[in-house]
Amino acid sequence: MKIVVLKFGGTSVGSIERIKKVCKIIINFTKKKYKVIVVSSAMSGITNDLIKKSRLISKRFSQSEYDVLVSSGEQMACSLISARLCDLGFNSKSMLGWQIPILTEGNHSASRIVGVNKKIINNMLRTNVIPIVAGFQGINSENRITTLGRGGSDATAIMLAKFFKAKKCIIFTDVEGVFTTDPNNYKKAKKIKVISYEEMLEMASLGAKVMQPISIQDARLNRVDINVKSSFKNTNGTLITKKRSMQSNKVIRGITFTKNDAKITLVGVKDKPGVAASIFKPLSNNSINVDMVVQNISSNKKETDLTFTIKSEDFSKTDKLIKKNQNIKFRKLVFDKNVSKVSIIGVGMITTPGVTYRMFQSLAKKKINILVISTSEIKISVLINKKNIKKAIEALHKEFNLDK
Ligand code: ASP
Ligand code: MG
Repeated sequence: MKIVVLKFGGTSVGSIERIKKVCKIIINFTKKKYKVIVVSSAMSGITNDLIKKSRLISKRFSQSEYDVLVSSGEQMACSLISARLCDLGFNSKSMLGWQIPILTEGNHSASRIVGVNKKIINNMLRTNVIPIVAGFQGINSENRITTLGRGGSDATAIMLAKFFKAKKCIIFTDVEGVFTTDPNNYKKAKKIKVISYEEMLEMASLGAKVMQPISIQDARLNRVDINVKSSFKNTNGTLITKKRSMQSNKVIRGITFTKNDAKITLVGVKDKPGVAASIFKPLSNNSINVDMVVQNISSNKKETDLTFTIKSEDFSKTDKLIKKNQNIKFRKLVFDKNVSKVSIIGVGMITTPGVTYRMFQSLAKKKINILVISTSEIKISVLINKKNIKKAIEALHKEFNLDK
């Protein structure tokens, strides 16, 4: 069987008209003799609305009940797609996570798919019934409904492609693919033809919103190639695949930026073992994600300054936790809520010297001050004032030949 997994995101199934369009895409694949497995998200806005409702009715919504609620949007989208296909003379059935079943492990709202029972779907494919699988959901060992984190339908599609050994896994979305940088922010952004899992994982984690970051990890571990393309326009999208098959001489593949970071500096903290741990322990206990961290070298061996970044929505909680932390002493807390993390990403930097210099030099030429720096093997991030985002992206995009 030549199997293809087609996943449609929220905007692709966002209205009745859109769903009709999606059905045309599905039918085209069946005409090309593919056995199609469809995965759908909820219609756009529905999941957000369900989350809002959960907050309105209870502050102590149990985690397992919450998953029952927020996974329900997918059910609606799947039955609409399936009904339309039947209307057009095709045989199709909606399939919820528990009906297959799709088995998951891990906490509610952040579960991972560990197994898929192939029997029912295989029977459907053999008898030309098109399965429309609800993305984002599964069941755990206690038979309760689980969800895979926001944007989790991507993970459903990737894991189905793995278990059914699909020839293709296509993620249909509202953009034409993955771009060198956000095209809404910079007009000269270019669509990327091929990108490695590693680069895509960094891009998605650092602010490119095309795909759920953790699902790319699933794809990488299971070697599932992903095509990201638009369901609105019939153009070639972006192929996400392993490193080896890349043929491009571009050192930097893409540039991302964040808009909701905050920077905190603790001035004059004691320079002795255990201090950094005491600062971050309560933050970690409260699920506050600390991103960049720098500690200055102490000039007098007694005191030092410690700077770190968090999401701006966590700022007031963090501020409170630090101020009531009895285990640390510092002279002053300074913060800046108008910062942005700009990152350049590319596997090419592993083998190409001078990338760091070129990045800093091109920002310096534009008189952009760098507040904090962090690096990994394939990315360099700098924290800058938010008002400089546009200028920085433009300079870096040019510097690394991404305009062409
Ligand atoms: N409907 C879910 C969400 O909005 C899952 C998804 O769209 O992939 O997060
Ligand atoms: Mg999505």
